[in-house]
Amino acid sequence: MSEQRGGEPGAKAEHDEREAAKARALAWDQLVATARRTVSDGLVVGTSGNVSVRVGDTVLVTPTGVPYDRLSADDITGVALDGRQVLGALLPTSELPMHLAVYRATDARAVVHTHAVHATAVSTLVEELPPIHYLSGALGGAVRVAPYATYGSQELAENMLRALSGRTACLLRNHGTLSYGDTLDRAYDRTAQLEWMCRLWLTASSIPGLTPSLLTEEQMADAALKLRGYGQGR
Ligand code: 13P
Ligand code: ZN
Repeated sequence: MSEQRGGEPGAKAEHDEREAAKARALAWDQLVATARRTVSDGLVVGTSGNVSVRVGDTVLVTPTGVPYDRLSADDITGVALDGRQVLGALLPTSELPMHLAVYRATDARAVVHTHAVHATAVSTLVEELPPIHYLSGALGGAVRVAPYATYGSQELAENMLRALSGRTACLLRNHGTLSYGDTLDRAYDRTAQLEWMCRLWLTASSIPGLTPSLLTEEQMADAALKLRGYGQGR
């Protein structure tokens, strides 16, 4: 739309705000669909886990303790990057410190946190997921485990951010997973791949008397490089 001569700054501002509201509504729909998928794919049970997506300088987040199948377009919940609530009446997720820490420190546009069972099991056993599959390369390398801290705490957000360094996913000890991406689909897919790799490692490690072979750093780096060109290209 072209601006009228003489300038109608009020009309332009209104138009921009309408467009921004449309973008937020669309992103909210996608966020709710992603949150529902974490339940239907078995990555969380009930209201566990949370999802966020960044639209401009607003971060849309799942509200705390609300079953995802009850969320409608009217429940849109958003905060500014400093955590101030700017949209909605429902209380934002208790894990706001983790989500905001990721947006402040990276170029993430979406964050997914789950309690996926195999990933959470692995978080209680090792300091990092052993490099059992080349797909670790798609997450930036061997996935680290962040030390335990109370859910929703700033301390957990700080531990998580350290474990995330150079990676797009990490495990949270005795708690779950955190992944991010430039889209909700990418953040979700990384979570699902991480859960799958954790299941793979637990399965291969469970044969008495046998130990799974692991990839070398060089093999992982080669795969990571090749994975950058994986797919149909965009
Ligand atoms: P919320 O319902 O507050 O998002 O909490 C779920 C969770 O996973 C906390 O770690
Ligand atoms: Zn959690």
